[in-house]
Amino acid sequence: MYKVTIGLEVHCELESNSKVFSPAINGYTEAPNSHVAYQDLGFPGILPVANEEAVKRALKVSMAMNCKTPDEIIFDRKNYYYPDLPKGYQITQMTKPVGINGYVDIDVNGEIKRVDIHDTHLEEDTASLDHYDTYSLIDYNRSGIPLLETVTEPCLHSKEEALTFLETYRSLIVYCGVSEARSDKGQMRCDVNVSLSETEELGSKVEIKNINSFYNVGRAIDFEIERQTEILQNGGVVEQETRRLDDETGETFHMRSKVDAVDYKYFIEPNIAPTPVTDEMLEEIRKTIPMLQLDRKRKYMNEYGLSEYDASVLVKSKEDSDFFQECVDAGADPKKACNWVTGMLMGYLNENEITIKDVPIKPVMIKELIDLVDNKTISSKQAKEVFECMIESGKEPNIIVKEKGMMQITDDNAIHDVVMEVLKENDEQARSYNPEKTRMIDFFVGQVMKKTRGKANPAKTMEMLREELLKYGNKES
Ligand code: ADP
Ligand code: MG
Repeated sequence: MYKVTIGLEVHCELESNSKVFSPAINGYTEAPNSHVAYQDLGFPGILPVANEEAVKRALKVSMAMNCKTPDEIIFDRKNYYYPDLPKGYQITQMTKPVGINGYVDIDVNGEIKRVDIHDTHLEEDTASLDHYDTYSLIDYNRSGIPLLETVTEPCLHSKEEALTFLETYRSLIVYCGVSEARSDKGQMRCDVNVSLSETEELGSKVEIKNINSFYNVGRAIDFEIERQTEILQNGGVVEQETRRLDDETGETFHMRSKVDAVDYKYFIEPNIAPTPVTDEMLEEIRKTIPMLQLDRKRKYMNEYGLSEYDASVLVKSKEDSDFFQECVDAGADPKKACNWVTGMLMGYLNENEITIKDVPIKPVMIKELIDLVDNKTISSKQAKEVFECMIESGKEPNIIVKEKGMMQITDDNAIHDVVMEVLKENDEQARSYNPEKTRMIDFFVGQVMKKTRGKANPAKTMEMLREELLKYGNKES
């Protein structure tokens, strides 16, 4: 067995009103080449301007990953020609990335692992190419969309660790609200570096470029481990190279060797003046970073006593987790709130394929609903009915309970009257009451419920029946 080492380079498009160096819209449209400014096409004499919003979002992710931030924002030119890059160079960051030397903790099956981040840098995305038999089409809509590239150290040692990191990173991006990070929309893409070795020294790495889904990252890693193992077992040497994944077969194939590596002749982008990064600016951004997935999960387990499973379900989406937290902040018992959120609420949302934003329910309503059950105004069965009405109408539970006439009879005298009535009407059964026979008491409870149309508080009814039935028997003997 060889030791597997993996390092990832993850690209994620950031949301912003306009592109990172041009005023063109950063947004999706079916129509190709409709969001394009001169800067994106590399017209001579046109100057790029760095988008402040995109820079701040990149800094936000950098800080959320515990990176060291730079003292100023500058960019570099990476020179190469490709049809999807009309300028002949890409504006990126090499000299001073928005973040270096950070880390992200991931939870691999209950074990916390710290993934070291080499750097994270802001750059512009390229145009997209569509290849046909004898020609290709270029869509410049994507050209210039802000792209954040995060590079991990070679510190991941299995497919599982790599995929868990990617899931965690995606969640960090989404929690920070800087991108939807959807790979199906091409917003997240990944280069995977894999090496095998028998010693502590790292083996020569193979890079698999531009993988478009986490599923395919998994396939590429599996395939490379197998391929490289076979080479090493046969006494061969793994060549340092760049490969691609064939989506159809799940196999990787040669793209270029190290000797063909491009020399990008980096230099500092002279058309964008440096902007200082001030402490005030960083503090402002830091305030907007929410508590992240893993920290929330730990809090729910340690502070609220939730199970690991429940905590994981709650933190899967930030909206659900925020909603749950607001229920608790409104005073709801965490376990009860969790039951409502993970049970009825998520059930309803999943069934209708909608999110919490699409329903008129408010966290405080969950707290009120729990109170109504706790103070025995309604039964837990009735609470479900109230919930369904609440999630559809947005009405407060108190109002629904009144409208539906669901209020339980909790008044002792009222219940007592009915209990006595029922006993008299069923004199014979009442006399023969035997506390050992539970079915008998159920019969009487049933009778009381029938008379009150289900509104008598079941616990109180049961208690009173037990008491009165015993007396009833005693009187006779
Ligand atoms: P290069 O100079 O070829 O771009 P870098 O050192 O910049 O290589 O690393 C690029 C990526 O490759 C990083 O994600 C890093 O973690 C990963 N990497 C580097 N060396 C190895 C290795 N021996 N095995 C696996 N991944 C590696
Ligand atoms: Mg590199």
